[in-house]
Amino acid sequence: MKYNIAIIKGDGIGPEIVDEALKVLNSIGEKFGHEFCFTEVLAGGAAIDQTGENLPLETIEVCKASDAVLLGAVGGPKWDSLPGQKRPEKALLAIRKELNLYANIRPAVMFKELKESCPIKDEIIGEGIDIVIVRELTGGIYFGERNTHGDYAYDKMEYKKAEIERIARRAFEIAAKRNRKVTSVDKSNVLDTSRLWRKTVEEVAEEYRDIRLNHMYVDNAAMQLVINPKQFDVILTGNMFGDIISDEASMITGSIGMLPSASLGDNNFGMYEPIHGSAPDIAGQNKANPIATILSAAMMLRYTLGLEKEADVVEKAVQKTLEEGYRTADIAKGHEKVLGTREIGKRIVEFID
Ligand code: NAD
Repeated sequence: MKYNIAIIKGDGIGPEIVDEALKVLNSIGEKFGHEFCFTEVLAGGAAIDQTGENLPLETIEVCKASDAVLLGAVGGPKWDSLPGQKRPEKALLAIRKELNLYANIRPAVMFKELKESCPIKDEIIGEGIDIVIVRELTGGIYFGERNTHGDYAYDKMEYKKAEIERIARRAFEIAAKRNRKVTSVDKSNVLDTSRLWRKTVEEVAEEYRDIRLNHMYVDNAAMQLVINPKQFDVILTGNMFGDIISDEASMITGSIGMLPSASLGDNNFGMYEPIHGSAPDIAGQNKANPIATILSAAMMLRYTLGLEKEADVVEKAVQKTLEEGYRTADIAKGHEKVLGTREIGKRIVEFID
């Protein structure tokens, strides 16, 4: 089968980490008989330098015509003095909006080999945590009307039932392939939007009777993530609460260079990217950890292309690389086998082969 993937390498470490993910995809293609056609397009600082715009029209068109998008990271000090709308990072918000990517999926998985990096006590973490956060990405307070009049400012929070239904379905579908539990996080003791959220999630849950659903207020969820993270399987939440909760959950794993994400639209179309930024401090030094990007590619195989087995193979190759003691500098806590970006990518490809 042939798949068209739009590639946005971006800035800083972006090109280095994406190159390793492409090697991984090529090796999966060879092993399983798939053809991945990559079309490289520009966004962010690299696009500004070459075209004067942070998100050229061609990029949007190529992305729309592709099965999925794989992105490194954008931004860096070179473009920091540009005004807000012209900055590289704005390209990401625009691309998510253009492609209607309303579901942000962020797994927070702690590999047992990296337990020392986890800021939470051993007895709480046990063998590790494995949570998926499903965050609504194109509605809620971040997209509501806002204004400032001197000493008065407001941000309006709105949700439509249809917006809640589609994100809730995503969460239940993901839970169906995992441990069959959804925790919906809201603030329904205070907010009307949260009351609509809770009622709608309960209605959607009727379609998924074999999946357990519980509700949690966001303040309690923030606390529970620290004192008992193992109770969670899939967390479903709105845009702002998801923004905060997903960062908290990610950091429990302790390693920014390890965490992938997906932003999905209709028909499983999606954009896949690591959660970290362009790390200008280590760019071009073969030091960046490519694992978050490689795991983002695995998510692409699973969620957009429906290649579950292939995704498993990539994740197992990453696991095996860590088990064998290979690390990039950011996750090496006194470990002997510290490798560069290309070398760790090579190991992962070898384990796939
Ligand atoms: P950052 O995530 O780029 O870096 C934070 C720290 O983590 C740095 O010390 C960096 O070296 C380290 N780090 C990050 N990714 C790593 C990796 N894969 N391997 C090893 N170490 C890694 O965050 P920042 O420094 O706040 O931002 C740098 C630039 O990235 C800024 O321009 C910011 O706007 C942009 N940014 C982009 C995205 C994105 O493209 N999605 C996200 C966040 C930040």
